[in-house]
Amino acid sequence: MKKQERRCLDCGKPLQGRTDQKYCSEYCRSSYHYNLSKDKKESLYHKIDKQLKKNRRLLMAYNKAGKATLRKSVLDDAGFNPKFFTHYWKNQKGQVYLFCYEYGFLSLEENGKEKYLLVTWQEYMQKKHL
Ligand SMILES: [Zn+2]
Repeated sequence: MKKQERRCLDCGKPLQGRTDQKYCSEYCRSSYHYNLSKDKKESLYHKIDKQLKKNRRLLMAYNKAGKATLRKSVLDDAGFNPKFFTHYWKNQKGQVYLFCYEYGFLSLEENGKEKYLLVTWQEYMQKKHL
């Protein structure tokens, strides 16, 4: 059987130690794991960032008049994901509007159909005690 040449996963130097050895040094081992977790964090950051911007773009496209109601599936099919939002606002009835930056949406049911009520951020929503 031909012995496979093993190399350090971090710096690529040939390995001479035990067959289960993956790094040439402790330094390479921790540097490899550090970069791995850094990349993972960054990609999650970019994923969330992308989805938030997509949500905002869609809310803006379907809410040209400042207020609109539409079927939930219309937005969802276009790639909208209601789990991603930047903040919320609760009105006096206790309804929670979720916002992607300055564009907001409220999930509601009308005649048994799931809908979104689209709104835009207003000055008075800024008040913190709500
Ligand atoms: Zn190494």
